Amino acid sequence: MIIVMKPKAPRASVEHVVSVIRENGLETHLSEGKEVTIIGVVGDKTRLSDVNLQIAPDVEKIVPITESYKLSNRKFHPEPSAIQVGNTKIGPDNLTVMAGPCAIESEKQLLSIAHAVKTAGATFLRGGAYKPRTSPYSFQGLEEEGLLYLKRAREETGLATICEVISRESLACAAKYVDMIQIGARNMQNFQLLREVGRAGIPVLLKRGLSATIDEWLNAAEYIISEGNPNVVLCERGIRTYETSTRNTLDISAVPVLKSKTHLPVIVDPSHASGVWEYVAPLSRCAVAVGADGLMIEVHDNPECALSDGPQSLTFNHFSQLTEELRAYAALQNRAFKEAP
Ligand code: PEP
Ligand code: MN
Repeated sequence: MIIVMKPKAPRASVEHVVSVIRENGLETHLSEGKEVTIIGVVGDKTRLSDVNLQIAPDVEKIVPITESYKLSNRKFHPEPSAIQVGNTKIGPDNLTVMAGPCAIESEKQLLSIAHAVKTAGATFLRGGAYKPRTSPYSFQGLEEEGLLYLKRAREETGLATICEVISRESLACAAKYVDMIQIGARNMQNFQLLREVGRAGIPVLLKRGLSATIDEWLNAAEYIISEGNPNVVLCERGIRTYETSTRNTLDISAVPVLKSKTHLPVIVDPSHASGVWEYVAPLSRCAVAVGADGLMIEVHDNPECALSDGPQSLTFNHFSQLTEELRAYAALQNRAFKEAP
């Protein structure tokens, strides 16, 4: 449940309510808006059955939250969140573009892609160093060597960096090199890993599971936040359906649905959603128009020779044409199309 305090309720009234809840063995989380403070209560509510908090000073109302996710719930935090990553913010006023290769293949390749995507307006460089491939015989990533290249690319370009992790070991290693970590579709319900990421405190991009419902996805976010890490961004990357003309089906309605259910920023990955480079631009335009806070796009210096996901990767030219077009879409949404520093 949440306890909504009256506008401009004095600190002492908020502290009183918090202490009563804690004395009864429940946890509290504060959401402090400009006018109103909301106290989120997590734990066994029956422990409060003997206390009437409704009549405590400056309590406006008590609202039960029926959904099992609480801290990611928009009822708890009515304002959309902005997540700070390095010197850039992902959130309501910006359109954040993350771009880069599916897999980091060499230092030269990564640096050339980093410069190209930065020139075109991306603020994040993505690149996989631990690849969860369908076949065990496919390229699995450069691991720590790849992370080192990401770090060098950040030093050279100022781009923020993001890399997927697939285990506790890869998380510990990646946290030393990158600004944000990605939990991929295949690990969205790896609850142990979600908890580890929560404890690590580093900003997280949580992709939607291959067949996950939106509620399952928000519960996955809750695993991270409930461990003390509120810096979670959601990424819609397509879901499994009966349709075979695209790799997955982009669930574009997930964007407005999430906007109503959660305060967390939402970005869209049209590359994995479609699996076909020609569809990346139209789906990107659509994602921005429907209110996404950003995009994650695969870009390669030579898609025909890519070690992973070449068919869905944009060339430098196609990527810069797309970002040019997206400036107008971002402006229509009152979003700043951020330039890298
Ligand atoms: C990726 O971003 O390279 C990736 C593997 O994505 P997903 O987890 O969405 O399949
Ligand atoms: Mn990929």
